[in-house]
Amino acid sequence: MGESLFDRAQARIPGGVNSPVRAFGAVGGDPFFVARGQGAYLWDTDGGRYCDYVQSWGASILGHAHPKVVEAVQRAAAAGTSFGAPTAAEVELAEAICDRVPSVEKVRLVSSGTEAAMTAVRLARGATGRPKIVKFAGCYHGHLDALLVAAGSGVATLGLPGSAGVTHGTVADTVVVPYNDEAAIDEAFARFGDEIAGVVVEPVAANMGLVPAADGFLAGLRRRCDDHGALLVLDEVITGFRLGPAGAQGVFGVTPDLSVLGKVIGGGLPLAAVGGRADVMDELAPVGAVYQAGTLSGNPLATAAGLTVLELLDANAYSTLEGTAAALADGLHSVLADAGVPAQVPRVGTLVGLFFAEQPVHDYDDARAADAKAYAAFFHGLLDAGVYVAPSSFEAMFPSLAHTPADVDATVEAAAAAAGALSSP
Ligand SMILES: *Cc1c(COP(=O)(O)O)cnc(C)c1O
Repeated sequence: MGESLFDRAQARIPGGVNSPVRAFGAVGGDPFFVARGQGAYLWDTDGGRYCDYVQSWGASILGHAHPKVVEAVQRAAAAGTSFGAPTAAEVELAEAICDRVPSVEKVRLVSSGTEAAMTAVRLARGATGRPKIVKFAGCYHGHLDALLVAAGSGVATLGLPGSAGVTHGTVADTVVVPYNDEAAIDEAFARFGDEIAGVVVEPVAANMGLVPAADGFLAGLRRRCDDHGALLVLDEVITGFRLGPAGAQGVFGVTPDLSVLGKVIGGGLPLAAVGGRADVMDELAPVGAVYQAGTLSGNPLATAAGLTVLELLDANAYSTLEGTAAALADGLHSVLADAGVPAQVPRVGTLVGLFFAEQPVHDYDDARAADAKAYAAFFHGLLDAGVYVAPSSFEAMFPSLAHTPADVDATVEAAAAAAGALSSP
């Protein structure tokens, strides 16, 4: 046996991966290396095939290598891959985003969700002249320092650095509150009221497993932001163009000041965006005083892919995808119940979650109390049967438009066997 790809990777890339969750640390074992993807499926470098519910963490809503996306990217590449000067496709994509998301009057394109969230934080501070940002424990907004914060104990705590290399000073203006906890939000506003520039929230939390916002939670945030002159920033990097054309804000009827978009809008290429009220967006350079820039921002390959994806996501696509998600959630729920395994399979529209827990999960503490060992065993049971779900219990499942009813049936069959193995000691 020669040296494996993972051995070589670990020798030259920290942990062998370019983003930590890919290393399978949370589930054990070595990651597979992807050779190619097509539709609902991935093939690894050993020829193994997997039905893929990660789909680049939701970026590939059409499935892998959709022919129209491939063609659009090829056509764009042939005309030059980056100019650092404006192109028509950027204008078309900005218009397509604003047409679909009414709260987005103007939009700035960037290359990653992290960058978009970082810009939203700077813009909220610059536009209000206030320092503090409220975030929720268990919500992820990328790896910008200001939001890479772990909650301290108790409600409405000032942030503690969530990573080595993040200083106390960097997170001193970040206030962390539990998700779905209105009393904690009231406490945060009572303590820091006119210092709060903005509240940043995932309208459906999808980075602590899938945790829906409680009824009225988002409307309550909107009202409190209005009362205190703070901006409401919805991080729709996962939910945008996935729950519907206007994302979670369209589904739940809440109007943010700023939205952070990513994943689906890049069609699997590096593209993200921050958008919102025109007066706030015009605080950005070169109009306003809030600096922001990017060599590859509005990249021609990414805008070509994004435009193609948005054009294909019509009402029919969303109802098909919701049907797929419902079949998956219902199937998983029933095989886990039949096996007598305590599990929750939350679903919000086209997004599905899975917790090995007795009770529904409402916040990060609940999510952390779920049985991660059971998740790891279930993950490997599915993987052995050729089904790839997220290699961590703190993620959602992303069925794509390429998943057929037969794919979902096969997945549920594999899940029945994996659940059976879990329940037999
Ligand atoms: C993935 C994600 C991000 C970060 O996006 P990157 O492109 O990975 O930097 C931000 N917010 C949410 C809600 C995400 O799921």
